[in-house]
Amino acid sequence: MKTIRTQSLSPAAAHLKQASSILQDGGLVAFPTETVYGLGADASNDHAVAKIYHAKGRPQFNPLIVHVADVQTARRFVQWSDLADQLAKAFWPGPLTLVLPRKKEARLSDLLSAGLPTIAIRVPNHPVAKALLEKFGGAVAAPSANPSGLISPTSAVHVQSGLEGRIDAIVDGGLCTVGLESTIIRLDDTAVLLRPGGVAAEDIENEIGKPVHIQTTVDKITTPGQMDSHYAPRAQVRLDAKNWRPDEARLGFGAVDCDLNLSLSADLIEAAANLFSHLHHLDAEGKAMIAVSPIPQTGLGLAINDRLQRAAAPR
Ligand code: AMP
Ligand code: MG
Repeated sequence: MKTIRTQSLSPAAAHLKQASSILQDGGLVAFPTETVYGLGADASNDHAVAKIYHAKGRPQFNPLIVHVADVQTARRFVQWSDLADQLAKAFWPGPLTLVLPRKKEARLSDLLSAGLPTIAIRVPNHPVAKALLEKFGGAVAAPSANPSGLISPTSAVHVQSGLEGRIDAIVDGGLCTVGLESTIIRLDDTAVLLRPGGVAAEDIENEIGKPVHIQTTVDKITTPGQMDSHYAPRAQVRLDAKNWRPDEARLGFGAVDCDLNLSLSADLIEAAANLFSHLHHLDAEGKAMIAVSPIPQTGLGLAINDRLQRAAAPR
């Protein structure tokens, strides 16, 4: 992996301004939240979001949580509801993530939500996170700031030892206090607990005056490609297509003739950035089959192939 210079920034106003410009320019900035240090990128920028997966070395594209400064900003991106309002008033800022339908007009990366029509969003309760998000003004995608598979970072030193040379900056805001992940709740007519965390399900039930359902194993474990939490195209998917057959939608990689190209220059970060939006586009054309060029099984290619294999699995 190419090494970049990682700047150490303090929470001073001038440094937060710098951190915010780095985000605006599509860079990666680690910053403290009350749960753990997050690895932030502009959530509207596919390429910046792809770099998160690249820096963490994640072998899969899990949808990421979006961080915003306040309810008003959240409402620009998701379809708000009375239930959401009630929970936000009670638990934001804080370790509660709400999964809500994405607004049609919201400028958000498709990679961010792994192609799903919903967005996971929260307002963190940490002065440094809050100040940075206010300065930035928009939505920041931020999973934990550690290499995939290693322990979540609760100090700037942890982030540095894991991601130095792979990210643009680290804002040092001291130690994280909660150390627990956020509770994730999906809201439609009911509230469904997707992940337990810093806010107890009982406290949520008391607040809304009705039961919080637990996501059942039937919801979670279904055949690959059918998982309700994972985007699968309507069309069948044919992988490793070295030549095209008639009547297929052609998704290329590298210097090939095709309908849409993930990356003409065979750049895996660019390919990751384009993956979900290109699949959506080709799927919308209505052909029965989407054929995809071979993608090398290195770096982000692992996560791209993982997702394509799920999309191609028998349903
Ligand atoms: P992390 O950022 O590592 O704390 O993990 C984010 C968690 O949020 C993962 O478990 C995701 O599966 C979950 N998540 C993010 N977006 C969504 C969504 N739209 N629907 C359901 N779960 C989501
Ligand atoms: Mg993590």
